[in-house]
Amino acid sequence: MFQGKILLIEDETKIRRFIQLELEHEGYTVEEEQDGRAGLNKALSKDFDLIILDVMLPSLNGMEVLRRLRQSSQTPVIMLTARDEITDKVMGLDIGADDYMTKPFAIEELLARIRTTLKHRRIDSPPSAAVQIGNLKLDKSRHQVTYDNEELELTKREFDLLEYLMLNKKIVLTRDAILKKVWGYDFAGDTNIVDVYIRYLRGKIDDKYRVKLIHTVRGVGYQLKL
Ligand code: CA
Repeated sequence: MFQGKILLIEDETKIRRFIQLELEHEGYTVEEEQDGRAGLNKALSKDFDLIILDVMLPSLNGMEVLRRLRQSSQTPVIMLTARDEITDKVMGLDIGADDYMTKPFAIEELLARIRTTLKHRRIDSPPSAAVQIGNLKLDKSRHQVTYDNEELELTKREFDLLEYLMLNKKIVLTRDAILKKVWGYDFAGDTNIVDVYIRYLRGKIDDKYRVKLIHTVRGVGYQLKL
């Protein structure tokens, strides 16, 4: 049974391997990164249910990763700190960590914290009502998109694509992530279809209203922002 998708950012190979095996055994899908910068990029480019983030990391420390992540993402984060990094714990919670674990810890404890964090998350997240950016508004319950209160005609796929962009506004989304989420293809295959549908959406939103919301991030993907 699939329990959720977790990103594990930890530079110590032994700890990383151990946590990964335990998480996979519990039914989680795990992706891993060994340094802060790569971890942040991955956290921003894909859709994770939870992130486990070590504090002491090469290239960008965990605090900085968390700070930058929180500028555009509310994905739950559990931080891993060493025993002598008490102030890091406090700081981490201040800048938006959901929980922390002090090394060394029992794996059962980490698994329990993960379950609790994910459960809170599911209760907190609203049943995806209306989302808005600028004058563009998408109402999931009515399956309606409006711009300046004027209704737009979108196909089912265009609606799904726009919804995904709006729920992740300001975040750079890769073509692969879009393909997987909107089309359900679980492979890094031909992503041209994403470009084609982005073009359709631009025709109905950006071109028509002359305000650019859909931005191309060269070599990466797309981003919805004002
Ligand atoms: Ca470390």
